[in-house]
Amino acid sequence: MAAPVTDGFSSAQVDPVDILLVDDQPARLLAYRAILAPLAENLIEASSGAEALKHLMERECALILLDVNMPGMDGFETASMIHQHPRFEKTPIIFVTAINVSDMDRMRGYKLGAVDYVTVPIIPEILRSKVVVLAELYRKRRDLQLANLRLEQANEALRVEKARELQRLNESLRHANNELATRNTELQAQIAERVSAELRLLEVNRRKDEFLATLAHELRNPLAALGNALNALQLAERVDPLHEAMLRQLKLLVRLIDDLLDIARINRGKLTVQRTATTLRAVLDSAIEIAMPVLLADRHALEVTMPPEEVPLYADHDRLSQVFSNLLNNAAKYSASGLPIALTATSNGNDVEIVVTDTGIGLAPGKTEEIFEAFAQVDTSVERSRGGLGIGLTLVKRIVELHGGRIVAQSDGLGLGSRFTVVLPLEPIPAGVAATTPQHSTASVRCRALIVDDNHDSADTMAMMLQMLGHETECIYDPRQTNDSVASFDPDIVFLDIGMPGLSGYDVARGLRAAYGSQLTLVAVTGWGHAEDRRRTAEAGFDHHLVKPADMAAISAICNGLTPRVRA
Ligand code: ADP
Repeated sequence: MAAPVTDGFSSAQVDPVDILLVDDQPARLLAYRAILAPLAENLIEASSGAEALKHLMERECALILLDVNMPGMDGFETASMIHQHPRFEKTPIIFVTAINVSDMDRMRGYKLGAVDYVTVPIIPEILRSKVVVLAELYRKRRDLQLANLRLEQANEALRVEKARELQRLNESLRHANNELATRNTELQAQIAERVSAELRLLEVNRRKDEFLATLAHELRNPLAALGNALNALQLAERVDPLHEAMLRQLKLLVRLIDDLLDIARINRGKLTVQRTATTLRAVLDSAIEIAMPVLLADRHALEVTMPPEEVPLYADHDRLSQVFSNLLNNAAKYSASGLPIALTATSNGNDVEIVVTDTGIGLAPGKTEEIFEAFAQVDTSVERSRGGLGIGLTLVKRIVELHGGRIVAQSDGLGLGSRFTVVLPLEPIPAGVAATTPQHSTASVRCRALIVDDNHDSADTMAMMLQMLGHETECIYDPRQTNDSVASFDPDIVFLDIGMPGLSGYDVARGLRAAYGSQLTLVAVTGWGHAEDRRRTAEAGFDHHLVKPADMAAISAICNGLTPRVRA
């Protein structure tokens, strides 16, 4: 509050207002001035209504103290004229009257905008109080107007600033939009370019697959001719090491081409499986047989564990054999010579799980998934040295998936071996589907086999092959120990080399025949395969004649034809 309303008025009004004192009597004006001086407002004097109006034209007054009885224009007339002016219609007027005003006059005064009356003799406190209140009211109203004006100005400034900011924002938004539109156009052009590149790639890829398929087909014919020629040579001439090498390489080529054809089929979605009724044992036997040359070449001992009971499968026998022969092949390929390999199969009635474990070069962390991608080889320098195109595992995975199964590779790291686990669901065999798979089971007949060969490698690999087929074996490298070994080991079958130093296979066979009669089955294993050679071994008492390197299927067939003796 600018000033107190009662006595003890401040003499230094901070913000004085104009107060117009209108009276024709100078003494009265003097009295007003004396009474109001303590309020420290601006006191302006006028001695008539006309002079009062003139002052009002020049300034705005907070209130007017107006004598009612003035000569000429009296107080009421003056008030009426003042309030007709729009600028002063709200200016409060205090009428000063010497006599008691009638109620009628009071009414008249109020109508003309009077807010109050004071009578003469004036009581200073009362006049001061009235003036203080009205001056204060005026100040408040003026402050309020000022504040309103400032608010309006601030509002306007804010509005202008906001408008400017909005404009700036709009501007930068427009800019960003333009940039976005440009970038969008560029991107769309890039996408279009990529789509067309992708289409071109797809087309090139399709043509590559077609080319692979055609190439593989075309290569097969000359290879078949070569194979036939080699087989004919084998029948007509003595087998020599070169011939064997050629056959081996030819088989490898045929396998590579078959794999290539299969990859082309996978890529074109044309690889299918032909399910028949078979058994887990039949599938694994045939896989072992296919992988045998590789296992033997590097002298890997294969430990096979199968469920004791027969596990019927409704599956593609040949394709599944391909899966496990591939895994065995890899286990041998990626292990140093002589390291053991295990093939373990278990069944829980719903699935079969087949695990191929090796102790070879192993897989670096993070490589166990990549190797299933087509043409993926982990370390090409090593893998190339071992042959292969990097498609075997892709085929394996696809075939397993076509059987509704899955495969995972695991390894504890480089140098720590690998483990490939295949899980296949056991599909029920539909009624009326008969088994079509060749059944030469490893354990259908379990016999004791003695191998006699002065060539250690030959003898050992033959023993390994027999063991993998589930038979018990013993090897001797000196033919003169044969009788002792037969006496102690008590074999069902003896595999005899023919050309041995000291004692020939013929002689050993004759001796055994004489001593044991037909109780022993004798098999000649020789590099010579002519009719004349076969006649000579038959004459010496041999039951069978095998040409080196002996074929696993032939060995298996001979063993399965035996009736093992019941021993104590
Ligand atoms: P390939 O043997 O012809 O290269 P695969 O598809 O059979 O092709 O195998 C892909 C890659 O996986 C191989 O090059 C090798 O790096 C890795 N690999 C496969 N089997 C084994 C294994 N038993 N031990 C270690 N690495 C393996």
